[in-house]
Amino acid sequence: MEMKENVSLKPFTVFQVGGPARFFAETRSKEEVIEALGWAKEKQIPSFILGLGSNVLVSDRGFPGLVIKISGGKVSRDGALITAEAGAKMAEVVNFSLQNGLVGFEWAIGVPGTIGGSVRGNAGCFGSEMKDFVAGADVFDANAGRELKLSNSECRFSYRQSIFKEKPEFVVLGVSLRLKSGGSGEAKERFGEFVKARVQSQDIGSKTAGCVFKNPSAEIRAGALVDKAGLKGTSIGGAAVSEKHANFIINTGAASAEDIVMLIGLIKERVHRKFDVFLEEEIQYVGF
Ligand SMILES: Cc1cc2nc3c(=O)[nH]c(=O)nc-3n(C[C@H](O)[C@H](O)[C@H](O)COP(=O)(O)OP(=O)(O)OC[C@H]3O[C@@H](n4cnc5c(N)ncnc54)[C@H](O)[C@@H]3O)c2cc1C
Repeated sequence: MEMKENVSLKPFTVFQVGGPARFFAETRSKEEVIEALGWAKEKQIPSFILGLGSNVLVSDRGFPGLVIKISGGKVSRDGALITAEAGAKMAEVVNFSLQNGLVGFEWAIGVPGTIGGSVRGNAGCFGSEMKDFVAGADVFDANAGRELKLSNSECRFSYRQSIFKEKPEFVVLGVSLRLKSGGSGEAKERFGEFVKARVQSQDIGSKTAGCVFKNPSAEIRAGALVDKAGLKGTSIGGAAVSEKHANFIINTGAASAEDIVMLIGLIKERVHRKFDVFLEEEIQYVGF
């Protein structure tokens, strides 16, 4: 594991904005993740875990500690149980499951992140969430310096919430997912439908972080409120509300993190004024 200094975080986030990490290490095994966390603890500097950077907004000043980018997760199976290291991409796990005749996880093709980041945020789409599939998680408690295993209920999942958000010192090292065997023809059909639906409704390939805001409730969708407030297409600097999906902000070229933060503020203010609803961010702020 190479420890680098003053590394720009832009290329490591889908938004493609943000300043440098004071220190940066890319890890490829759980041992390297633990080693990197120990290094930061010894130096008494903050650390931040980065997956595929599809749910983060990094400040223009960057991050003053160590950014640990978790990459390269192995995926394996034991019967209907799939085990994936934290750095495995959701798409890789979906493909692995279909190749192995295990079904039910096709929806996850809509989430362009790692398994680790998706467990932390209890990512979900098309009516499914990580919590419906996680059998257990291998975790490193960076404060206590020890590994532990959490069951599904111990992960305390709820809508875009988990114990990993409550305890940032809990780093997901790996996860086991319970799937079902059989019916791979239908599963491949579902997979195709999900890919099509995603392309139709989202800005795939754009510089974005997906949904900026959580839905205020199961009935009220944040995107619908932003749309009804007439904010589609509204821009500040290089940041614009997507014309396609009102809960997406797009970096149209050279947006700064500040442009995006100001646009988020404007959206929250307008939605509150019009609907008396406080929107809460789903994206994670880094270095603010
Ligand atoms: C086009 C687009 C579409 C999207 N659609 C969806 C969707 O349909 N549903 C949905 O839920 N999300 C969606 N997202 C958001 C995003 O893909 C998910 O939140 C994803 O799970 C984030 O994973 P990541 O690896 O990119 O995490 P990152 O963005 O790298 O990190 C997000 C947070 O997770 C933490 N984290 C990352 N890895 C770990 C780990 N191993 N242990 C502990 N904490 C960790 C980070 O510290 C950070 O706080 C979308 C994003 C984009 C760009």
